[in-house]
Amino acid sequence: MPTSTQSRFLDYSSAYSIAEKHGTPCYVYDASALDANAAAVKAFPNAYGLTARYAMKACPSGAILRRFLAAGLDIDASSGYEVRRALAAGYAPVQVSLSTQELPDNFAALCEQGVLLNACSLNQLERYGAAFEGGEIGLRFNPGAGSGGNNRTNVGGLASSFGIWHEWLPQVQAMVERFKLKVVRIHTHIGSGSDPAVWQKISSMSLDLVRAFPEAHTLNLGGGYKVARMPDDQGTDLQTCGAPVAEKFREFAAETGREIHLEIEPGTFLLANAGAVLARVQDLSSTGPEGYEFLKLNTGMTELLRPSLYGAQHPVTLLQAEPSIGSVPYVIAGHCCESGDILSPAPGDPELLAPRELPRAQIGDLCVIDGTGAYCAAMSTKHYNSYPEAAEILLETDGSTRLIRRRQDPERLWADEIAE
Ligand SMILES: *Cc1c(COP(=O)(O)O)cnc(C)c1O
Repeated sequence: MPTSTQSRFLDYSSAYSIAEKHGTPCYVYDASALDANAAAVKAFPNAYGLTARYAMKACPSGAILRRFLAAGLDIDASSGYEVRRALAAGYAPVQVSLSTQELPDNFAALCEQGVLLNACSLNQLERYGAAFEGGEIGLRFNPGAGSGGNNRTNVGGLASSFGIWHEWLPQVQAMVERFKLKVVRIHTHIGSGSDPAVWQKISSMSLDLVRAFPEAHTLNLGGGYKVARMPDDQGTDLQTCGAPVAEKFREFAAETGREIHLEIEPGTFLLANAGAVLARVQDLSSTGPEGYEFLKLNTGMTELLRPSLYGAQHPVTLLQAEPSIGSVPYVIAGHCCESGDILSPAPGDPELLAPRELPRAQIGDLCVIDGTGAYCAAMSTKHYNSYPEAAEILLETDGSTRLIRRRQDPERLWADEIAE
C-alpha cells in the first residue's frame, strides 16, 4: 500500500493548533480547495450554457452550502429534507433541482415554490402529472449502462433502481400525453467514480433521450467525476472530460437545430480532497509475531464509513512532534466495538486487512485522514457506541480556522427520548 508522508493541507503546526482549539476527532475543510474546485466546475466545457450544481448529499453543512452559493453554484438535492436544508442555507427554490429515490409528500408545495423536480420513476411522473396537469417536468433516466467505483456506487444499468429504465420510453410518452406534460429536462447520473470514457458514452446516449422529447431544453449529466484520493489514483480533468461532450452538443444542434443547455452536479469532485478528518492515536496493541500491529484512533466509522462500506482507500498521515525512527505495518482500527471498523481495508474489499506502513506511532500522535470531505460527515454511523457528532472546522484562505459545527453535546443523543 503506498503511504503518504504528508497530508494534503494540514501540517503538524496547523493540525496541532486545531486540535488544541477544537479537540479531536474533527473534520477540517480547506476553503482554498473548495473555491478552486468550484471554479473548475463552473469552467466545465459547454456549448450552449452551463448550470453547475453542487450535489449536496456529499457534505450538507451550512457553511459549505453558503460558500458554494456565493461561488455561483446551484443545488442538486436527493431528498425533500435536503431541499429544506438548501433553502435554509439561502438558496432560492429555483436554484434547487430534486432527483430523489423517495418523492416527498410535500413535493407539490416544493414545486409550487419553484423547486425543479426530475421524476425518477414512472410512479413519480404519474404523481407529478396528477398534481400539475400541463406542467413542466424533468425526467431522470437509467440509460442502460452504469459506471462507478464499485457496485454500491454504480447507479446505472440493469441492477440499478435509479431513474426510469430507458426501455420504458413508450410508457413515459403515454403518461406525458395523458397529463399534457412538457418534458423540459433530461437527467442521467450513472454513478460515482466513473470512468471518463464511459461517462462520455453515456452522454451520447443521453442526447438520444433528448431527441425523443422535442421540448427538452436542458440535459443534466449528473456527477460522478473521479478524484485522486490516494497517490496512485487517477483523477478526472474536467476540461479533458467535458470537451468531447460539448462537441456532441454542437453536432446535435447542427442536426436538430436545438441548442441544449448543460447541467452537471458533482459532489465528490467539489469536496473529497477539500476535507480531512483530524484524529489522535489513542491506543496501540498487537496480536504478536504471527498477528498484526494495531493502531487505534479516536475516530472510525462514526466519522468515516467509506472504508468499512466499500473498502475505500484514504491516505493516513501521522503528524508527530518528534519524527520517530523506523516504520511499522499497522492495521488502522476505528474506535467502534465492531470488527469491521477498519481504516485500512484492502482496496475494494472491506473484509480484508491491508496494513499500512507508517512511522512507529506513539499514543497521542495526531493523525490526518485525507480525502474525507465527501460522503464522510454526511454518511457515517454517527451515534454508534453513543459517540457524539464530531466538530467541523473551516480552514480559511488566510490560514485562520473557524468552527462551523460544534461538537455535539452528548446529552443531545437522548434528548428526544420519552421517559416512562
Ligand atoms: C450523488 C449524486 C451526484 C453526485 O455524485 P458524485 O459522485 O458525488 O459526484 C449527482 N447527481 C445525483 C443525482 C446524485 O445522486
